[in-house]
Amino acid sequence: MKPNLHPEFKEVTVHCACGNTFTSASTKDEVKVEICSACHPFYTGLNKSVEKGGRVEKFNKKFGKK
Ligand SMILES: [Zn+2]
Repeated sequence: MKPNLHPEFKEVTVHCACGNTFTSASTKDEVKVEICSACHPFYTGLNKSVEKGGRVEKFNKKFGKK
């Protein structure tokens, strides 16, 4: 079996342009992305609540404290 035929995936820290970091599997030592699950409009409510932060506020009000 040839060495390096299959690159070994390892856990790396992914740095997003929004400042968010998260771990993912990659063959690289470090990964930089321009968009992630924290800032992608699809995940943040299709731009509706990005500027207002309404969804997060509602979430925190509902689950953050009693
Ligand atoms: Zn991001």
